[in-house]
Amino acid sequence: MEIFNSMTRKKEPFIPITEGKVGIYACGPTVYNYFHIGNARPFIIFDVLRRYLEHRGYEVTFVQNFTDIDDKMIARAREEGTTVQEVAERFIAEYQIDASALGIRPATIHPRATEHIPQIIAMIGKLIDKGLAYVSGGDVYFRVKAYPSYGCLCGQCLDDLESGARVSVDELKEDPLDFALWKAHKPGEPAWDSPWGPGRPGWHIECSAMSTTYLGDHFDIHCGGKDLLFPHHENEIAQSSGATGQPYVNYWMHNGFINIDNEKMSKSKGNFFTVRDIAKEYDLQAVRMFMLSAHYRSPVNFSREMIQQAQSSLERLSIAKDQLAFLMASAQDRKPNEMEEAFMAYCEEVRAHFYAAMDDDLNTADALSALFDLAREIHKLPLNGVSTKALICARETFSAMAGVLGLLNRQEEELSPQVRAMMEERARARKDRNWKRSDELRDAIKALGYILEDTPAGQKVRKGL
Ligand SMILES: [Zn+2]
Repeated sequence: MEIFNSMTRKKEPFIPITEGKVGIYACGPTVYNYFHIGNARPFIIFDVLRRYLEHRGYEVTFVQNFTDIDDKMIARAREEGTTVQEVAERFIAEYQIDASALGIRPATIHPRATEHIPQIIAMIGKLIDKGLAYVSGGDVYFRVKAYPSYGCLCGQCLDDLESGARVSVDELKEDPLDFALWKAHKPGEPAWDSPWGPGRPGWHIECSAMSTTYLGDHFDIHCGGKDLLFPHHENEIAQSSGATGQPYVNYWMHNGFINIDNEKMSKSKGNFFTVRDIAKEYDLQAVRMFMLSAHYRSPVNFSREMIQQAQSSLERLSIAKDQLAFLMASAQDRKPNEMEEAFMAYCEEVRAHFYAAMDDDLNTADALSALFDLAREIHKLPLNGVSTKALICARETFSAMAGVLGLLNRQEEELSPQVRAMMEERARARKDRNWKRSDELRDAIKALGYILEDTPAGQKVRKGL
């Protein structure tokens, strides 16, 4: 597999540090609100990365943090007259609801900043010992100029960064480029004891401390939105490598931005959507499909039209999946004939196309086209008596690809006994040419949320999306 590495700005072959194992750290949400459509993109994309690596046989440790202490958390708790902890608990639970509806699997570990204060303090201590950080008025700052390779990720040298830095009004800092590792306690804010007095961690340090705690000082992949590249990830490298003296991460992956109706998403423009807002109108599986329809590094434009398009694409795949189940009911346990042999060879070609696309820096758009190719061929199969072997081959290929993309993997919904009984009664009614009763039953089945079709091989029913 090749991965575009933001550090070197080119595609590189992916070689894990330990054969057969992959460690991935993804920056997670600050849990002060429902997450928005811009956050959803990295969550979905890097969930697919993890699924694909697992599918190819790697043992993946996927770590995604919850930022449960920062200015926004404190402001929200104050607004609501509650504690920061209560806000965190509530929005972690809400995150899980939306993530699950988007088909995002829980990470191997979801560490929370407030549960890693000792590790954070230890790392800050090491940085102070090495002269890479200093205490000032109860705060602790990272001394950027003492770390000469600062800027290696964003590709800017210290001089460029310095001329671009806003003149700091903060008298506690030695230099405008320095950033906070520890913030001294202010009245009304949560605080933890530290060797530098009570306070709370800065945002950047939590990711350095938690990633190295679970993945070791040097690990394989760190990912997040492009907006995190600078300063967040640049700072993480300086903190982690500064403290450990080791290289930090081998591959940096960043996804592109999301525009809404061709405009930058912002609260002030009113085009700011939380995933929860979108769930009121659309199936969130369609949001996942939409995100996978473009390359993760390209910017994407989110609009109603695009989401409807994604919904109908998803429907096409769902119909193909149902068609396979339907064909299976009349499958014949025999040696595949010539046409079926050719179809099975085609399934292998599709799988190879899919792998080639995913190996090319996670090209999900191209990988999806392989899935659609197979869906189209499934519909060309005869409606009756296809060889079981050919159908199993198609089903395995289809579900392997859909599984990697995290699509159509909802728990199979068994037909309820009520619907089954209605279908049987309807089959009898049709046999007796009782069209009136047949129509009544069709309408009743539809009213329960099922889509019913009459085919030369009998009734086909599936749950509507
Ligand atoms: Zn982070």
